[in-house]
Amino acid sequence: MTGSRLTLGVQKKGRLAEGGMELVRRAGVKLAWGRDELMRRAENLPLDLMLIRDDDIPNFVASGACDYGIVGENVLYEAQARSPRIAGLETVMKLGYARCRLKLASPKDGEVRAVDDLAGRTVATSYPSLTERFLNERGVDAEIVEMSGSVEIAPRMGIADAICDLVSSGATLEANGLAAFETVLESEAVLIRAPRSKSAEIESTAELLVERFKGVIASRQTKYILLNAPKDRLEDVRAVLPGSDAPTVAPVVGRDDVVAVHAVCTEEVFWSTLEKLKAVGARSILVMPIEKMMA
Ligand code: AMP
Repeated sequence: MTGSRLTLGVQKKGRLAEGGMELVRRAGVKLAWGRDELMRRAENLPLDLMLIRDDDIPNFVASGACDYGIVGENVLYEAQARSPRIAGLETVMKLGYARCRLKLASPKDGEVRAVDDLAGRTVATSYPSLTERFLNERGVDAEIVEMSGSVEIAPRMGIADAICDLVSSGATLEANGLAAFETVLESEAVLIRAPRSKSAEIESTAELLVERFKGVIASRQTKYILLNAPKDRLEDVRAVLPGSDAPTVAPVVGRDDVVAVHAVCTEEVFWSTLEKLKAVGARSILVMPIEKMMA
């Protein structure tokens, strides 16, 4: 929208909604209380959230009803493949949640086991454009049956030989006797914008949000580790610490042979990491979440 407040389109209900609201909240946005079902006003930033269906977000951003939007890549790319107006939308950043895969799957006991087996057969999907493009690229001529939901029941109902659907945990495929045999797309939530010029105020709010989102994403898997280590095993300890370049090493009162090590670890810290640290002599190991980060 034009003006000085940035309008961000986010999913109202569904798989992306919770993660989107969590991201906005962790970026320090405080939403004012309101009865409005469509718009939520931030009280501490010139920002309004527009709560809409995820399928509508690319359209709302392309038309200028929203300045920016948070949407799944699956929804974005399908809309882009269908409409040249939406094809021009820019992905500002990946947001690292709502990860899923668009996969081709078929009945476990059936004849379709690979993409080439689809020639002359039918594929049910809610993503006809992405599916068609993928099959064209592979030189396979199959009929696409578009369904708006419950795609996984199509083979059982005799509607299609295979499906192309989103898979997260794989439980839905399993429950319907289906097995995936190819990945068409890897998807996660992304921040999008139209390449239209916006007011200086909106651009500056967008820059601030992008920096804060980066901080939230970085802090999600980053951990702060504190431990005590024998001075002569310091190099072994450093070698085990995941993704930490320059730990702080401090003296421990009354112990000449031991040092305290503090490190920010940018890679996931597993139980096995702690076990390895202990094996090289580390003791009193604490792993703590990081609330906020700014480079
Ligand atoms: P799952 O059983 O966890 O593999 O989830 C599969 C079901 O959830 C299918 O019906 C998908 O259409 C849907 N699904 C999975 N991930 C997403 C997503 N990121 N966005 C929308 N729907 C999804």
